[in-house]
Amino acid sequence: AGIYENGVYNMSVGYIHEYMERTYNDTRKIEIDSLTGLLAKAEITNMVIRTVDLEKRQNVTLAIVDIDHFKKVNDEFGHMTGDNIIRQVAAILADEVGDNGLVGRIGGDEFMILFYDAFDMEAARPRLRSIKNTVCGVFPPDVPGQPTVTLSIGCAAFPKDASNYEELFTLADFALYRAKEKGRNRYIIYSRELHGDITAVKNATISKTRINNRGDMSKADILCVIMDKVVCREDYPVERL
Ligand code: GH3
Ligand code: MG
Repeated sequence: AGIYENGVYNMSVGYIHEYMERTYNDTRKIEIDSLTGLLAKAEITNMVIRTVDLEKRQNVTLAIVDIDHFKKVNDEFGHMTGDNIIRQVAAILADEVGDNGLVGRIGGDEFMILFYDAFDMEAARPRLRSIKNTVCGVFPPDVPGQPTVTLSIGCAAFPKDASNYEELFTLADFALYRAKEKGRNRYIIYSRELHGDITAVKNATISKTRINNRGDMSKADILCVIMDKVVCREDYPVERL
């Protein structure tokens, strides 16, 4: 349901799910990210988990989007300009996705999109290309005195690539880091042939390099990942970690 104030759309509350041939309403207030108006991290995460793990909605694609070298933009142009850029990027993503999916902010300069209608490489590519081109149009590169804003995007499809949300996120996140590694300003669509299966990707993402490169991992996050490996993976001895 849309909530309007003086005739102006303000926010949506609640959503309706079809699950196991049963429809139910959840009318709690939806959490919105205050800077961008997108879904907040917990909200989009829960919605995507429901969509993938409970509803098992077919042929969806999860994309993780991260602004390139955003620390540098903040350093050079100030935090307020940085905030405006986050807002503008958020608006572009919301506009590009429209009613065909969900968009949320999951970190400082990181966003998550669930496309409802992009189930493989061919379907996802024009969507990602369109996002990239729109950002390029709004922030033309190499204009003196203007910040350079580009995006790196990683994505994976359900159920083609992954059998649940956790796998889907891991694969999309892996593809994002490949995009960063390959020089940024690009999208990478996960491909089993190219990147290996989920086990190979999980092994690759626990590498020391990635933890060190990942500015937003807290000590607690790192410990959790390590503990998970120690407890769950017999072939990953403590000495190696
Ligand atoms: P990379 O290309 O590897 O993503 O480099 P990066 O500099 O963008 O690195 P990263 O994504 O790890 O850093 C995100 C930065 O975003 C860290 C912080 O300075 C900035 N940031 C986080 N939240 C906000 C915010 O709400 N407003 C502004 N202006 N900056 C933020
Ligand atoms: Mg970034």
